[in-house]
Amino acid sequence: STRIVLASRPVGRPEQENFRTETVELEAPKPGEALLQTLYLSLDPYMRGRMSDAPSYAPPVEIGQTMCGATVSRVLESDDPALRPGDVVLGYGGWQTHSVERAATLRKLDPALAPLTTALGVLGMPGITAYSGLMTIGRPEPGETVVVAAATGPVGATVGQIARIKGARAVGIAGGPEKVALLRDHFGFDAAIDHRAPDFAEQLAAATPDGIDVYFENVGGAVFDAVLPRLNQYARIPVCGLVANYNDTDLPPGPDRLPLLMSNILRKSLTVRGFIVSEFMSQAAEYIPAAAQWIAEGKLSYLEDVVEGLDHAVEAFQGLLTGKNRGKLVVEVSAI
Ligand code: NDP
Repeated sequence: STRIVLASRPVGRPEQENFRTETVELEAPKPGEALLQTLYLSLDPYMRGRMSDAPSYAPPVEIGQTMCGATVSRVLESDDPALRPGDVVLGYGGWQTHSVERAATLRKLDPALAPLTTALGVLGMPGITAYSGLMTIGRPEPGETVVVAAATGPVGATVGQIARIKGARAVGIAGGPEKVALLRDHFGFDAAIDHRAPDFAEQLAAATPDGIDVYFENVGGAVFDAVLPRLNQYARIPVCGLVANYNDTDLPPGPDRLPLLMSNILRKSLTVRGFIVSEFMSQAAEYIPAAAQWIAEGKLSYLEDVVEGLDHAVEAFQGLLTGKNRGKLVVEVSAI
C-alpha cells in the first residue's frame, strides 16, 4: 500500500517537501474492521489547518502520520457482518491507496443512485456545510440578496443555488473570467464577479443595488473588505471558512480595522456566527434527499475536478489553496 504522510509542518504555502510518500505492508482487518481499496480521495481546504499545530477545532495530523481525508473505497476484505467484499463505502481513509477502517464508521454507497464522487462533494460534507450554514444561520428570505465567494467550489456553488431555490437573489464571487462564466452559465447565479478585477469593490456594489442580506463567508481577505460596506441592517454572516488566510504566517500590516468591523456589527445589528459542519451533521438526513431531488430536477448543478493518481495529490492540494481547481477537487486513486 502506498501512502502520503506529513513530513514537516509548512510555514506559509505547503511545499512538496512537507509530504513524504511511503510504501507499507497491508494489515489484515481485525474483528469489526474492513480492508479497503481507495477509489477517490477528497481534497479540502481544511487539510491546511490539520498540517499546522496552531490551536484549532480538530487535532493536527502528527508528523509521520498519513494525511487525513474523506475517501470513497471498495471493500477488499471484511471482518464485520455489515460489509462484504465489493461493497463501496464512504469513509475517512486519508491519502493512501488502502486503509483498514472500523466498519461502524463507514457508510455504504449505492453506485446506482448517484456518481460515487458526489458523496465527497455536493451530496457529502461540502453540500451539508452549504445547506446547514445557509439555512440555519443565513436564513435567506425570498427577494433578499445572498453573496458568496469561492462560488464555483462545492460549498459556494451549493450555497448560491440553494439561495435561488429559496427565492433569494444569488451573487457569486470567483477568481478569473473563466470561473465567472461558470457562475453565470453553469450554476445560474444572478450576478457573478471576479475578485481579482481591479474594480472588484465597484463591481460588487453595482451587483448588489439593494445591499447584502446574507454574506456566506468562505474566504475573508479583500472580499470581506468589499462586502462590509454593502451589508444591510440585520444582515447575517455564516462564517464558514477563511481560505484567503490559511497560508498566512502573521497578521497583515496596516491600520487596526477591528473598530470598523465592530462598529458595523453594532450599527447594523449584524449576526456573525461561525460554525463547523460537524455541529450540523444531523441535517444530512434532510439535505441529502432534497439535494438528490434538486439535482434530478435540474435545479442544482455541480462541478468536479478529478485528478488522476495519488502522486498528483500534493500538487492538486497546493492548487486548491490558490484557486487552480475547477469545482470539487477529488483524486482518483484507483480506477473503478
Ligand atoms: P473550494 O473548492 O471552493 O476551494 C477553495 C477556493 O477558495 C479556491 O478554488 C479559490 O477560488 C478560493 N480562494 C482561494 N484563495 C482566495 C482568496 N485569496 N480570495 C478569494 N478566494 C480565494 O473549496 P470548498 O468549497 O471545499 O470550501 C470553501 C470554504 O468552505 C473554505 O474556506 C473551506 O475551508 C470552508 N469549509 C468549511 C467547513 C466548515 O465546517 N466550517 C466545511 C467545508 C468547507 P477562486 O479561484 O474562485 O478564488
